Amino acid sequence: MAIRTGDGVVGIEQQVLEVVKAVQGPLPDHWLLGDDKCDCVHQRIGEWTNPYTARTLQIRLCCVWKALGEMFPGFIQEVDAFYDDNLDEWVEEPRAWDSEDADMPVYLWFRQLARQTGRPLPDIRQEYRKRTRERPRRVPKGRGRESRVEPSMSDERVKVAHARRLRQSGWVVD
Ligand SMILES: [Zn+2]
Repeated sequence: MAIRTGDGVVGIEQQVLEVVKAVQGPLPDHWLLGDDKCDCVHQRIGEWTNPYTARTLQIRLCCVWKALGEMFPGFIQEVDAFYDDNLDEWVEEPRAWDSEDADMPVYLWFRQLARQTGRPLPDIRQEYRKRTRERPRRVPKGRGRESRVEPSMSDERVKVAHARRLRQSGWVVD
């Protein structure tokens, strides 16, 4: 479809793009995991981008899920604990940062502080935004998670947890 304007015939698609650009202004910020631009505990961003069309679709899935949860509260479970799927156990205490490779990401540090203190994330962000040097640093080689022996499938506790989960999920009935 084409329409006639003062400048001649212009495709409607092109016109729409021009209008969108005029309304949006410059290109938006690129969303990234950990950008801390929302208060969700688990930030998740879906992205589809293509160089041949020069179009990108980004969805802040975490925020969409939050809105869905408000519409369907019975279908969302939020638990104040970490689920250890090796041992089929809930762990309520936030783990101390134990990476040998990197300092704690700021967005994660804010959320850990909020969890440890029970304070709202925006308050924590406000208070600690200029104190990021205080965040937990990577631990020396040989002392962190990478160097610890995680339980493996040969570990008896893991075998028991695995069998229990198979029973609970209906894969094994006797
Ligand atoms: Zn979000």
